[in-house]
Amino acid sequence: MTQTHKHPEHQTLPNNILLEKWADIGFHWQGEIAISEMPRLSEQTVGAGALSVVADLQKTDGVLWLNYTVTGAVDVGCQRCLEPMSFDLSGAYRLALLQSEDEIAKTDGEEFVLIDELGESARRLLPIKELLEDELMLALPLSPRHDDCDLLIESVGDEIEEEESENPFAALAALKGKFS
Ligand SMILES: [Zn+2]
Repeated sequence: MTQTHKHPEHQTLPNNILLEKWADIGFHWQGEIAISEMPRLSEQTVGAGALSVVADLQKTDGVLWLNYTVTGAVDVGCQRCLEPMSFDLSGAYRLALLQSEDEIAKTDGEEFVLIDELGESARRLLPIKELLEDELMLALPLSPRHDDCDLLIESVGDEIEEEESENPFAALAALKGKFS
């Protein structure tokens, strides 16, 4: 999690990997990925940093699985006070890469994508970094707020008034609070 950490070229997760080369023998990569390498994630977060990632592509019972194990946190802006708050993205992300819809039955309810929907070239070049970014984007909170936001504690009255204008659900929540 440091801005000055240098990533030697060969340690960077490639944007794409050759699917026909790796699908059968399996692909494994382990290292650090700077948040700045993922433009959409950068846009939704504040500050710099890096995530420790283990990426594995493996075929199991004829289905291609992409597994990412992520360790690390990003800073997102609290929607209430606008100050950064840390959000832990650590976890295991698992995704089946399907050649056709016929394979859906083999995914056992797990998350999947159809390779053809990833773009024209995906059958040849798998966008392994973009797929990781997709998973991380989905994991980000839609409306991040500090659990113990200072702004909420200091000015509860102002806050409710402010929220009524921008969020109808907040007004409802405030009403519920009064009657319960
Ligand atoms: Zn806050």
